[in-house]
Amino acid sequence: MSQQVVIDSLAFARDARRLEGDLAMADMPRVHDLLTEVSGSVHYRLTGRIGALGKSQLLLQLDCFVPLRCQRCMERLDFPLHVESVLELVESEADLTQEDLEDDSRDFLPAEKKLDVLALIEDEVILALPVVPRHDSCSLPGGGEKSVKESPFAVLAGLSKA
Ligand SMILES: [Zn+2]
Repeated sequence: MSQQVVIDSLAFARDARRLEGDLAMADMPRVHDLLTEVSGSVHYRLTGRIGALGKSQLLLQLDCFVPLRCQRCMERLDFPLHVESVLELVESEADLTQEDLEDDSRDFLPAEKKLDVLALIEDEVILALPVVPRHDSCSLPGGGEKSVKESPFAVLAGLSKA
């Protein structure tokens, strides 16, 4: 059984509403293939606001650790997920200029009377996950590349060369 959270996106932005909660990984089936185990949840905060130039916006913040699998040593990797997306509501994508589309400070979302918030969160989680997750340094034996502990002298040597 999965829950559903539906908002009228324009009204949500106009009234500066807020929505906060936790969405279980179990309720995000499209993410399951990437996980070492289906556990935990994503903490989400959705805030409606009117942004610069009077545009209706939704600010979506996500925080969690996602249990992915390292593609180098195949062990579990708890990926820290922090998302802060500004989603600007548009009536029609045809209204967007090239300049809008090239602006990375915000994304665009069709204004909907019945916006499925949980599906939106799932989309954002998928977008935020690395394509090839890897530990910064794999500590386990046989993990391909060995974890190299850099000595402070090596760092200094590197600095003096620069
Ligand atoms: Zn690894």
